[in-house]
Amino acid sequence: MKVVIRSEDGGEICHPFSTCTLHLFGVTEEDEVPVSIQYGQSGLIIGRPGEGEEHAVLEHAHECPFRFISEEFRNQVDEIKQDVRIGVAVVLENQHGQIFTTRRADHMRTFPRGWVLPGGHIEEGETLKRAGAREVHEETGIKVEESQLSPLALYESVFPVHLQVGQPKRHHIVIYFYAKIHMDEHATLNLDPQEVGAAGWLDMEQLKKVFRCDVPQSGKFSALVRRGEEWSEEELPIESLQAIPDENGRLQNERLTTGTRVAIRRWMRMKGVEPAEMCSPKL
Ligand SMILES: [Zn+2]
Repeated sequence: MKVVIRSEDGGEICHPFSTCTLHLFGVTEEDEVPVSIQYGQSGLIIGRPGEGEEHAVLEHAHECPFRFISEEFRNQVDEIKQDVRIGVAVVLENQHGQIFTTRRADHMRTFPRGWVLPGGHIEEGETLKRAGAREVHEETGIKVEESQLSPLALYESVFPVHLQVGQPKRHHIVIYFYAKIHMDEHATLNLDPQEVGAAGWLDMEQLKKVFRCDVPQSGKFSALVRRGEEWSEEELPIESLQAIPDENGRLQNERLTTGTRVAIRRWMRMKGVEPAEMCSPKL
């Protein structure tokens, strides 16, 4: 499934791998642009929304590698003909106003130990919402209906996140959905050890701390953590979710990832809370 960009005159182009998505919309100063989303046979079509058309905001990291890569590298990768891929993820809010996050398994190739929202790829013939609901269930055991999902945010995700770490290998457009769910107090999670290393629920006060990227915050949150073959209930430090650049401007792997922040920040705003500024590591 391809990502297609629709221009204002209605023309469509396949999203080149090595070009920043926002640049394709002529946006170079800002880090966000409102877009319309359509999904069908040809893939994901994103365009500038028309008058009154339903839209969501697409964001990228200020340090998006595709803003800085050389012309030479651009030509090299475009020859390989890699595709920009589509991802889906879901902001699940329970009846206590908490958001569910998972820590990616240590062995994963991209964003190991990063805290994210449940999600993944779209399978042949699936709609975006169907894929979102299926991924949530496969990864966590939580049941959510497609009809409960509504679009919340879009994020241009690039891995690695900095050119200093290496040339971009993965380029995704991630569509974040939101769903309000009711979790039975006795319902047990069924976490997939292939993808998940830990998981927990965070409330608004905890999230406000997580968004601080200046000083480490005190406090803990409850999580299920995989230890060997077992899952154990543990209290983890809020600090491990913060994204505080070290003296070299680098971020630790274990943090709430930027795309996840983008989605959760939209959710916080929906609740009338303005979180701290996004961290922008200086490299
Ligand atoms: Zn970009």
